[in-house]
Amino acid sequence: MGLSIGIVGLPNVGKSTLFTALTRKSVGASNYPFCTIEPNVGVVAVPDARLERVAEIFRPEKVTPATVEFVDIAGLVKGANEGEGLGNQFLSHIREVDAICEVVRFFADENVVHVGGVVNPASDVETIRTELVLADLETTERVAARLDKEAKKDKTLESKLEIVKRLEAWMEQGHRAGRMEMTAEERVLLRDLHLLTMKPTLYVANVDEADIGHTFSEIDGQMPIPICAKIEAELAELDPSELAEYLQAEGLEEPGLNVLIRRAFSLLGLESFFTGGPKEVRAWTISKGSTAVEAAGEIHTDFARGFIKAEVISFEDLDRLGSEAAARAQGRLRIEGKDYIVADGDVMHFRFNV
Ligand code: GDP
Repeated sequence: MGLSIGIVGLPNVGKSTLFTALTRKSVGASNYPFCTIEPNVGVVAVPDARLERVAEIFRPEKVTPATVEFVDIAGLVKGANEGEGLGNQFLSHIREVDAICEVVRFFADENVVHVGGVVNPASDVETIRTELVLADLETTERVAARLDKEAKKDKTLESKLEIVKRLEAWMEQGHRAGRMEMTAEERVLLRDLHLLTMKPTLYVANVDEADIGHTFSEIDGQMPIPICAKIEAELAELDPSELAEYLQAEGLEEPGLNVLIRRAFSLLGLESFFTGGPKEVRAWTISKGSTAVEAAGEIHTDFARGFIKAEVISFEDLDRLGSEAAARAQGRLRIEGKDYIVADGDVMHFRFNV
């Protein structure tokens, strides 16, 4: 399942630094507003202690984690809508992502220029929201004009026109599309508009080192994830024992990046199931509520087409019993059919015939 997250924010808030930390590859973070002109894409492993445990049990040749793609999206500045900065170029990149990670500058550092002159998270969030809402309004205006004409001939389009117009009025008041109350059917009608402010969004507070572990006030109704991008970039370079030492000294359980990646994963309603054998242990990504046959299809279309049954052990059982054979002997290996709803962490083996 391809899953991508766009990193946005004003210039000099630490987007490239965060991206570098995430992907451990330098994209030229520098004290210059438009250093990331092309979108940079990095594939990041989803940290999952369960996968390590499953690998310990199967001792495979290879371990493959679930992944998330991060895209560093440059060019969003105040007035982008009127062509400031890189203008609307950023829009085409941001439309393609499944979710948005907005980096908000909380760190002070007077050596790093702030585009607005002073560090002011609330005002920065407002600026970005305004730009995204304006971009979405351009879309809804265009779509409403087209639907207006077409609905005269085709009455079935009237309900779509009605919701687009209602949304337009809502966004004209400066609100994000995603915060308007609407039915599930209405949401489906709006899907092909690919609105930016309809995408699930999470906020990263890029804080000073001294503020790691503090909590910050809500942004747009949700708690931001506090991270010090500069430190995360340094941590990403450490070997595991040095990292463990640092975390222990700071009283932290894991790097902030791990928290961010997992939050992004659950924000999107995703979960993992595992497959295991002597060759490979692997984590696969599915939407919550997926059936066994959908999970099989994630591995290969043949698995779904020729699906016979799935052998399932819950992660907890496998962890506790320590082997597949023990789980079988204890009656903890279940046979499930096509419609079985996969649980997060299930260890699965598919039987199929094509
Ligand atoms: P972008 O324009 O949003 O991509 O910002 P960059 O990642 O290029 O960062 C701009 C500058 O801020 C660089 O000089 C970074 O080293 C610095 N920077 C990024 N994150 C932090 C941080 O957490 N603390 C401090 N003090 N500086 C940071």
